[in-house]
Amino acid sequence: MPDADGKRMFDDLSLVLDWIECGRKRPARLRAPETPAAMPESEPPAAEIPAAGPSPADSLEAVAFEVGRCAKCRLAATRKRTVPGEGSANPFVMVIGEGPGAEEDERGLPFVGTAGKLLDRMLGAVGLSRAGNAFICNVVKCRPPMNRDPAPDEQAACMPFLRRQIAVLRPRYILSIGRVPTQALLAAKEGITRLRGRFFEFEGVPLLPTYHPSALLRDEALKRPAWEDLKLLRERMLRDGLRLPSSDKSDVSDKSDVPDKSGA
Ligand code: SF4
Repeated sequence: MPDADGKRMFDDLSLVLDWIECGRKRPARLRAPETPAAMPESEPPAAEIPAAGPSPADSLEAVAFEVGRCAKCRLAATRKRTVPGEGSANPFVMVIGEGPGAEEDERGLPFVGTAGKLLDRMLGAVGLSRAGNAFICNVVKCRPPMNRDPAPDEQAACMPFLRRQIAVLRPRYILSIGRVPTQALLAAKEGITRLRGRFFEFEGVPLLPTYHPSALLRDEALKRPAWEDLKLLRERMLRDGLRLPSSDKSDVSDKSDVPDKSGA
């Protein structure tokens, strides 16, 4: 049986009965408060991204220190705290979102709101955690006002920090969550629905795009494809020989491992 994180994630994603019933849709349990607005397309900033320049002496601490003093874009004027990232210094997976929200701006930590808690459960269901084998950060390290998308020039200004983090951490995989980081990292114009579910590459690291947990909270229909993406990542990690917590007993593709709701 999967561990508790896995059970909670199954429950949150409303997939347990779907799976048991061979894909039949069950009534919605989680409902979005309102229909999610279509995410506006924007020009990817990748063409403006400066070349990476990591030095052998670089470190996560050095990046965080420089981020803390940075005023290279307009987001410096409105932030409360910078949010350089959090997690393992030797991660299997680097999770990259678009930018900090209000709670992250208050606390200086990435993905600590409702969506962040769901992200933690999603990662836990496939044997990943920020405390153990994942590092979580964003394309921009300061909060865009009113939770707007970070502008292309803001992404471009901040991208050298992300490139340095990747160079220092050398993750085995990148999980880009949502349209903004995926378009930024892949220099793509397609939406996340077209890009998710298959591996690309960034800085020589296999990159898998998937939906942002905030989107899953707004739109229940996205939960199944998001779970399929996570299963794909887990299968790739296992195939590449990585040892994951509970990997011997949480084969998520095995129906016998589907938890009942009492354990969620
Ligand atoms: S978002 Fe990035 S580039 Fe802009 S001020 Fe913050 S740390 Fe600097």
